[in-house]
Amino acid sequence: MTALALSMMLDRAVSEAPGLARLVAKAEVGGEPPDDIPLYAPRRKIYPQRTHGTFRRIKWAVLVVTLGIYYLLPFVRWNRGLNAPSQAVLVDFPARRFFFFFIEIWPQEVYYLTGLLILASIVLFLSNAVAGRVWCGYLCPQTVWTDLFFAIERLVEGDRREHMLRDQRKWTLETYARKGVKHILWLIVAWWTGGAWVLYFADAPTLVKHLATLQAPFIAYLWIGILTFTTYTLAGHMREQVCLYMCPWLRIQAALTDEYALNVTYRYDRGEPRCAAAKAQELRAQGKPAGDCVNCKQCVRVCPTGVDIRNGADLGCIQCGLCIDACNAMMTKIGRATGLIAYDTDINIKRRMEGKQPFVKLVRLRTALYAAVIAIAGGMMIYTLATRDSEGINVIHDRNPMYVRLSDGAVRNGYAIRIVNKQLRKRDFILAFDGMPASLIDFVGVPPREDGQLLIDVGPDQTREVRVLVTDYGDTPPASTAIVFRLTDVATGEQAEARDHFFGP
Ligand code: SF4
Ligand code: SF4
Repeated sequence: MTALALSMMLDRAVSEAPGLARLVAKAEVGGEPPDDIPLYAPRRKIYPQRTHGTFRRIKWAVLVVTLGIYYLLPFVRWNRGLNAPSQAVLVDFPARRFFFFFIEIWPQEVYYLTGLLILASIVLFLSNAVAGRVWCGYLCPQTVWTDLFFAIERLVEGDRREHMLRDQRKWTLETYARKGVKHILWLIVAWWTGGAWVLYFADAPTLVKHLATLQAPFIAYLWIGILTFTTYTLAGHMREQVCLYMCPWLRIQAALTDEYALNVTYRYDRGEPRCAAAKAQELRAQGKPAGDCVNCKQCVRVCPTGVDIRNGADLGCIQCGLCIDACNAMMTKIGRATGLIAYDTDINIKRRMEGKQPFVKLVRLRTALYAAVIAIAGGMMIYTLATRDSEGINVIHDRNPMYVRLSDGAVRNGYAIRIVNKQLRKRDFILAFDGMPASLIDFVGVPPREDGQLLIDVGPDQTREVRVLVTDYGDTPPASTAIVFRLTDVATGEQAEARDHFFGP
């Protein structure tokens, strides 16, 4: 950014901020800054103006798709057979399972969810390296619901000008009525949001019936109440304050970005010096410099966070692109080229000012690294999910005592063995063990078959715990020997193993 552009922006910012003007004035004469300037800027109520254009359409499309998915997904059915729930996406706390279409995650596989969260973070980093706060501007739930609440507000209270005038005038019955209707509509959306959330934790059609007939568990009503309150407060009242003061991503994102990331940028090389359209034409005719910005402030009026993008990069800017639409509309109206505000970089602005060609550098070390991590981590997750076993065995050795010496001199160890059957059919398993040739295995409460093998049946999509005693009849019982418990599906021959130890004196 050139010194000229910077000084012009500073002048403008100072003229619009009296506190800052006093600070600068004091600094210029070498005095101490006054100590009566508050550190916290009081909130200005924002009345974002309706806008039309490409980015507004993208935001509407994202809003409809994301909210449509959120509200309707619990009602999508997925046939998993007789012994499993038919809801496509379900967090089944009583059965301790997470169902996502054809994927079923067991509690011991929670690392898949951890992996998914890590993957989502890297995707977020990549999107930030490519095009700044794409998440904030289009996809973040706070943005989506706030956008919806703004739409309701404009529908009921009118667009920016009408709404501001009504708020400033003496409130009439109509003002109260409009505000009442707005809050009722907000509460309905917030309630529906909380209601949809609980449907992910139980069979949705059944829970809807139970909720309507007041037969649902108390916890369901409690969560609906909590989420109704949070949605109404965050999207209806706190709005941009959530982004500015509560969101950690705002700070992390600022530290992760670089100079090549595309951001919503005011091209001050083209916009400055600002002047009215007619005056600009006059100046150009005289061969004098005139920028394209006509200082109409449409970009500021449509901004949902109240940012003036012409002052440069701002943490309050969620990069929603609405100021691009507003400015493009103004440029079209005055017959100038669109793109005075656009996705761009400061590097390109400098290059244009130096008469060089701008460029976009999407492939960089960081974007390549992020993409590689996403490909590797995503590939590993898909591979392990596709090839994971449908049976499992977990062994816990008795802690106390570690071993018991029997009256005939043999040494015995006890184990708790949990057998997992992830298939939706009952299965018979044979349990055997290796590593102690002079030992026998006994199940407490499970007699061996005629051929001496130990057969255990496990119900569909269930686990079964059995207690196992291993007794060593060798002459010199070992102090510690590695052993392997092996589980074999009688019907298919699929196997699972678990390693543990046999302890002696
Ligand atoms: S400055 Fe522009 S891109 Fe940033 S939040 Fe405001 S309208 Fe959206
Ligand atoms: S909308 Fe465009 S022309 Fe109007 S003030 Fe903003 S940058 Fe300048």
